[in-house]
Amino acid sequence: MSRIIFFIIIFAVIYFGWRAMRMRQIKLEEKIREMTVKKEEGRPVVKGENMVECAHCGTFVPEKDALRDGQNYYCCAQHKKQGPRGK
Ligand SMILES: [Zn+2]
Repeated sequence: MSRIIFFIIIFAVIYFGWRAMRMRQIKLEEKIREMTVKKEEGRPVVKGENMVECAHCGTFVPEKDALRDGQNYYCCAQHKKQGPRGK
């Protein structure tokens, strides 16, 4: 009889030990997931920068860096001066 109780105790210890470990692992996974979500939220949102084509040489430049002349964009002052190249 005492052997049965002994085995039950062993099983209980193993079971609770396993469960505790499992709970810790789940908590850790949740923490990692939370951290990942926070990281993604904190990441600066890179908005799709509007790229425009230089009317002279065809180089794509960010709109904020481009030089505008009416409807045309240019990559540099020189190309702006030279004007659009006929296609
Ligand atoms: Zn250009």
